[in-house]
Amino acid sequence: MDNRITVIYGDDPGEMTARLLDAVGLSSLLPPGGNAKIGIKPNLVNVTQPEHGATTHPEIVEALIRYLQAAGFRNIVILEGSWVGADTMKAFRALGYDRLAEKYGVGLLDTKKDAYVQKSCDGITMEISKTALELDFLIDIPVLKGHCQTLVTGALKNLKGIISDREKRHFHTLGLHKPIACLNRLITADFCIVDGICGDLDFEEGGNPVQMNRIFCGTDPVLIDSYIAQTMGYHPSEIGYIRLSEQYGVGSTDLSHAQIIELNRDRGKIKASPSRIVKELSRYVEARDACSACYANLMQALMRLKDIGVLDRFRKNPIAIGQGYRGNSLSCPGIGNCTREFDSHVSGCPPHTPEILAYLKDYIEQEQ
Ligand code: SF4
Repeated sequence: MDNRITVIYGDDPGEMTARLLDAVGLSSLLPPGGNAKIGIKPNLVNVTQPEHGATTHPEIVEALIRYLQAAGFRNIVILEGSWVGADTMKAFRALGYDRLAEKYGVGLLDTKKDAYVQKSCDGITMEISKTALELDFLIDIPVLKGHCQTLVTGALKNLKGIISDREKRHFHTLGLHKPIACLNRLITADFCIVDGICGDLDFEEGGNPVQMNRIFCGTDPVLIDSYIAQTMGYHPSEIGYIRLSEQYGVGSTDLSHAQIIELNRDRGKIKASPSRIVKELSRYVEARDACSACYANLMQALMRLKDIGVLDRFRKNPIAIGQGYRGNSLSCPGIGNCTREFDSHVSGCPPHTPEILAYLKDYIEQEQ
């Protein structure tokens, strides 16, 4: 486990994943020899397409399988158990995971149908998929998204897909945070790839996707989730299961000592038709040729301002963002280096969500 998080921007999940895996040298982290049993855990919480904001793009998994097979690994299984009430096999078929498994000769396991092993941690006993526990290397591929109860969901919470449905219900009666942290202490992902192409702003079941155009990876699931929390405008300490996972020794929340390696810059334009919530937030924004990653970071910050009830302050003085503002000097709040001639702006290309949030909060205070 190390303190690196490697980020790539773009809108082609397969090509981005291949470049990312080459850049981080995943093969050097894999167990020696080609016989190791490798598990790939995507997020197929329900039967919806990735554009809906909830599920892992299959192109990411396909690029990963190609990489693993090229490195000589043949014993690969994709494993998932959708949330209670959803049919995992239906999700596998709807997203094309069944075709992937057949094309590459890899296993496909609905963990709802697996045998379970009882494991205990800090007073909680839980049923975990036997296949998951027998893996030599677990690759966790969550989607970057919000959650109505835990605020964010990422690598740590994605492992809920390897417990039984009965256990999922049990987790909810225990308030989610402690059992999620315990689960990750009992079985820890060896490598995480976060699908941040179009995660959801506030719900794990999707419906309010925001085009974020990024994939990132790392070996520490706690650090990865801390970065997800920060990307969504939260401090990692606000998320109970992230804090507890660090206390259990699963990993570190210390982003100040993390190496964030960005392989490229995003210059893609916003393509997806905006969801209801993104439309609502964009009423406070005047965008001119904004890059999608920049715009997505602003949307996450606006969501947090909405949560604390101050977003309306920008109704009459909208926030400017985009390359179309280069060289303009305006008095409205500006996002990113393109607005550097404004009376005030937050710098960065793109600026990240915490800086945007701090700048806009400060702007509101100055206006009072
Ligand atoms: S500051 Fe300008 S160029 Fe840089 S990411 Fe934002 S919109 Fe794009």
